[in-house]
Amino acid sequence: MTDPHAIVIGGGQAGLAATRTLLARGLRPVLLEAGAEPVGSWPRYYDSLTLFSPARYSSLPGLPVPGDPDHYPHRDEVVDYLRRYAARLDADIRTHHRVTTVTHDGDGFTVRTAHGATFAAPAVIAATGGSSRPHRPALPGLDRFTGTVLHSAEYRTPEPFAGQRVIVVGAGNSAVQIAAELAAHATVTLATRTPVRFAPQRTLGRDVHFWSTTVGFDHLPIGPLLRAKPASPVLDAGVYRAAIVAGRPDQRRLFTHIEGSTVHWADGSTDEVDTIILATGFRPEVSYLDGTGALKDGQPRQSPGLSTTVPGLGYVGLEWQRSFASATLRGVGRDAAYVVARLATTMSPARRRCCQPVG
Ligand code: FAD
Repeated sequence: MTDPHAIVIGGGQAGLAATRTLLARGLRPVLLEAGAEPVGSWPRYYDSLTLFSPARYSSLPGLPVPGDPDHYPHRDEVVDYLRRYAARLDADIRTHHRVTTVTHDGDGFTVRTAHGATFAAPAVIAATGGSSRPHRPALPGLDRFTGTVLHSAEYRTPEPFAGQRVIVVGAGNSAVQIAAELAAHATVTLATRTPVRFAPQRTLGRDVHFWSTTVGFDHLPIGPLLRAKPASPVLDAGVYRAAIVAGRPDQRRLFTHIEGSTVHWADGSTDEVDTIILATGFRPEVSYLDGTGALKDGQPRQSPGLSTTVPGLGYVGLEWQRSFASATLRGVGRDAAYVVARLATTMSPARRRCCQPVG
């Protein structure tokens, strides 16, 4: 086979958007996806998940999400949509190809997979998601908690927690949604470092995404500035705020420490707790780039989406990579276009052979 112009690592929305952009420029990418299908992490998100963005603001370039443009698609609709999107690309997509190492020299990149396949190209786009690695903060006593600790990435449905005393840690969309859902089945506290901030889902009869795209906020290259800010506000049509006001879940300042199964609160009170769910976000997992000089403390050295240390290496799908919308369905296509346009000059096909399984 002919060498590809670029290797895209990760077959979620970011990798698919990057692949489409490369193809549209007449370039020949190969997309390597660890899983069985190029549908990203969506099948692993919790069962009740519906998008916070309406269908009309949740599409990748070139294919609208089907159905009423104002409905909020369910997780499974996104999976179906990505499946169709990938099929329509007619691209070289290799599933069951988990990338383990990337090396870089004067000739370009060599990418190796877990089962021994090797690929070479002059450019690599890392699109393995901003949410591959659940972030588990070191909270006082959590390592000795005798109950169950889960990350929100492991949460699926509320039923297994019926009758339990549960604490959900976090102040973002996932924390509030999970806590509110669980509160119908369990006694739930939402524990936050800072008060939960709400933003109305609709203003003057229009969804917040209408306003952010109409006034151009979504497009502003202010992602790196936003990275240092507190969590985004929770989008709410009134349901979540009302649930918290009603005490289901109740909301408290983060506990001071844990001893065994006892959680100690700042006011001196205590609770015996069965389960703690950490809805504390994610970090990118790009350890396959170790050794290239592209990472610092395990995180990409990039601006905005282009490696600042390794020429020919780009990223798509990192949170705050370029704009407020970088890690969303509606924003990832713009970032892909930006990154591909800047990498394109480096993309003459690598001289080495690609795609020969080794051993
Ligand atoms: P992922 O979907 O994580 O895809 C990365 C892919 O890379 C995966 O398929 C994985 O198997 C693969 N991979 C990982 N490592 C390797 C490797 N070493 N080699 C090869 N392949 C690899 N966005 C919205 O626009 N609207 C929403 O309403 C919305 N709701 C969200 C709700 C939750 C709970 C979460 C967590 C996120 C939500 N997002 C939403 C944000 C975002 O759209 C998703 O997180 C989306 O899945 C990110 O897509 P991605 O392609 O960047 O990463």
